[in-house]
Amino acid sequence: MVLSYDDGTIEDIELARLFDKNKLVGTFNLNSRYLGVTRSWPQKNGDTIYQKYVPKDSLLIIYKNHEIAAHGTLHKNFGDILNKEILEEVNTDIDALTKLTNKDIVSLAYPFGNTNASIAKLISRTGIINGRTVADTYKFSLPEHYMMWHPTCHDSKALDYLSTYLEMNNQELSLFYVWGHSWEFGDVKRWYDMVKFCNKVGKAKDIWSVGNGELTKYLKAIENIEIKNNRITNPVDNEAIWINLSTGIKKLNPGNTIKIKTMAKSV
Ligand SMILES: [Zn+2]
Repeated sequence: MVLSYDDGTIEDIELARLFDKNKLVGTFNLNSRYLGVTRSWPQKNGDTIYQKYVPKDSLLIIYKNHEIAAHGTLHKNFGDILNKEILEEVNTDIDALTKLTNKDIVSLAYPFGNTNASIAKLISRTGIINGRTVADTYKFSLPEHYMMWHPTCHDSKALDYLSTYLEMNNQELSLFYVWGHSWEFGDVKRWYDMVKFCNKVGKAKDIWSVGNGELTKYLKAIENIEIKNNRITNPVDNEAIWINLSTGIKKLNPGNTIKIKTMAKSV
């Protein structure tokens, strides 16, 4: 399961705490230039919404157990700006977040969810290995493209889909991918739905709650596995992978080979 949250406003503090309580891992997509500031967002009806962003010096405290990811340094719409500016938005965000956290920044959520094949290709030159859209699929399948990764659904619908997911008994890998904004949890009903959702997921024994970057690396590692003559080999420069054997789940470290008798069709 991936839980991907955008913008880095101070409501992330409460959400990250909820994830921590349930041993869940979030992916938090931040706009580095807004860290520590209060910003006004003019609304169509004439109102103005003010948003407060988390302080720069607290990232490693708030997001201690979570992945920190990019969301464009100034949240510009990539569909409205030149390639040069897109790269600047992404690279500036990566640099700033890397400096503040000392961690590799490899995931990104597109501001306003806006992207296309050429933008995705452009950004894949920056060190980003996955890019999330807001085009909900309402499915639990793995992504077709890491750089145009369509989530399962927005968190406002996540609870509706959870029992179907928990009841699935599928041998193939599946993914429940939820996205949203913590500032939307000002709506009390939605917050309590999220609390319920996290409590249930936290209790599930067969869900791996993981950052988008770590999941991407793992899926790529699976692609690198060599299967020949009933032997499964994990290349030396790969990551460790887990194999579901009739005797149980076994970890296969890089450089190791395992001999098996027969293979299930879904492998
Ligand atoms: Zn955003």
